[in-house]
Amino acid sequence: MKPRNPKTNSRQGRERRREKPVGVGELAGHVFDSAPGRQELCREESEPKELGFLQLCMERRFHRIVQEKFEELSGLQPHDYWSHSDAGGAPKMEPEENRAKYAYDHGARHMGWSAHGDGCGGFKPPFHPHEAGDDEIRTALLATLMKKVFLYPEASHYAIFATKDAQGNASVWWRGPVRQDG
Ligand SMILES: [Zn+2]
Repeated sequence: MKPRNPKTNSRQGRERRREKPVGVGELAGHVFDSAPGRQELCREESEPKELGFLQLCMERRFHRIVQEKFEELSGLQPHDYWSHSDAGGAPKMEPEENRAKYAYDHGARHMGWSAHGDGCGGFKPPFHPHEAGDDEIRTALLATLMKKVFLYPEASHYAIFATKDAQGNASVWWRGPVRQDG
């Protein structure tokens, strides 16, 4: 079946052509009729030269600019790295080391560790003893970066911190690449 909407892949197309919701009762009939929502995946090279891993907060304001900064710093394309997001970003995700380890074991050699300021849900009660300010979160991110450099010695590491500036725009601060032997 041909896609009915050839503009589905463009950002403009997506914004203008939001699909009409399907009731759950009709869902089964739509499972194999999803061409209008089909998106082309990034072309995968058979032997990617380099791979990466990015760990960031799930927060909706900043995840996109964090990804763009990581891609700029590492030179990776979106399909060249794994991403792992949850509340609080990298400093709060240290108990979930197995995701980062998986990526490293499968070739990730650019590793981005991210957090953000301007009120992060992962750095507020009940997930944190108090509501942390930007400086505290950025300090925690730098401490995380130092640990990761030693956990993953063959990778280049980046710390990426996003927050809101005085004009209300997003601003990004970063450090890296950092290597154990650098
Ligand atoms: Zn957050």
